[in-house]
Amino acid sequence: MQTMTPLEINPPFLADKPRSISAIFDKARTYNKKHPDQLKADGLYLYMRKLESSSESRVIVNGRELLMFGSNNYLGLTTHPKVKQAAMKAIEMFGVGAGSVRLLGGTFGLHEELEQRIAQFKGTEAAIAYSSGYVSNLATISTLLSKQSDIAIIDERIHASLLDGLRFGQIPFRVFDHNDMTDLDAKLASSVDKGSLTIIVDGVYSMDGDVANLPEIYKLAQKYKALVLIDDAHATGVMGPKGRGTAEYFGLHGKIDIVMGTLSKGLGGIGGFAAGPADIIDFLKHTARGFVFSAALPPSTCAALIAGMDVIENEPEWLIRLHENANLMRKGLQQLGFNIGQSCSAVIPVIVGEDLTAYQLTRALHALGIYVSPVAFPAVRKGTARVRVSVMATHSTEDILKALSAFEKARTMIPAPAPEPAPKEIDQKVA
Ligand code: PMP
Repeated sequence: MQTMTPLEINPPFLADKPRSISAIFDKARTYNKKHPDQLKADGLYLYMRKLESSSESRVIVNGRELLMFGSNNYLGLTTHPKVKQAAMKAIEMFGVGAGSVRLLGGTFGLHEELEQRIAQFKGTEAAIAYSSGYVSNLATISTLLSKQSDIAIIDERIHASLLDGLRFGQIPFRVFDHNDMTDLDAKLASSVDKGSLTIIVDGVYSMDGDVANLPEIYKLAQKYKALVLIDDAHATGVMGPKGRGTAEYFGLHGKIDIVMGTLSKGLGGIGGFAAGPADIIDFLKHTARGFVFSAALPPSTCAALIAGMDVIENEPEWLIRLHENANLMRKGLQQLGFNIGQSCSAVIPVIVGEDLTAYQLTRALHALGIYVSPVAFPAVRKGTARVRVSVMATHSTEDILKALSAFEKARTMIPAPAPEPAPKEIDQKVA
């Protein structure tokens, strides 16, 4: 077989740089060998399992039905009949895309209506819709904060997209211990004379399912005149009596400066948002690069999301059911002796320690008909790998009980950890 040199496979304008290109590709190939390829060889690759059905409480994988506990479609809105109908109607009217960025040729009435509904839902003056939650966090933070004059004080477990926003904007930041209000107070106190302060937290932490101590954060923000910016990705549609998020859960609805989040989890579609004062949102709409230079959400997605918000308002039974299911799952896992950390939401981590154990437990559960997700380093700290369980309103009580008995059985299916290697005898001649 003829082997190709980099010069032959690369376009002519790269011909003088073959070494650096092959180094770039080498890095990727080395990573693959060490990570996904190794997991595949060990029969432990459980990422990107192909769904042959919609992402509901039951899914089809490889022709087999599994109970789905790995989806963030918390309220089941992704396939709610009224939501689907609204999307189909909008596709009939407007087609499948917006055709442009919002500023130039892509703004539809449905975009404006969606943003008004988000603002109403979050108790703010206005909102901006982005193409994803990731983009929302990246664009909002990097645009709003300034590297010259601001300092962000962030919880150590905030989502990667918030951190990427700080990095992209080169915003100085200091980290406080997870949900530790004494440490937050100390970090604020020692930063107060160095710039304008912004506290950045998740509402519900995506890998832990616990909730930011918003009442204390709010008090500290007042004490130090700091802005509060919260990512409500896993709380929107889920937390609070009406599903309006973490602020509503704590009786602080409408009091948080900027609330961001995704439209892809509780709200069942795709997209992200930031909600806050009208003039700030207007500024973002004209300057946030992730908005200005990126195509608008399809009108059909907006219609689906608006219909989803109608369902949340008019069918409160879904939210009630979600919490009944999550409570049952949390209690059951604890009774079985699993460590679920401080979870008090629909996200329930089963913390097992080693990455390998998380993969093995996920594989055992998959074999027993339960779909959960393994979460390993670097998504979580070393030694805190977990199986992430997310509960949906559309699970039945029987589904939850089945999952619990599968967990009980699955732990007996994990191979015992390999014995520690015996300490090597010291070679006296060398020592
Ligand atoms: N914030 C948090 C806390 C998340 O968990 C996620 C998604 N995993 C995002 C933001 C990004 O949202 P999206 O998937 O819509 O980009």
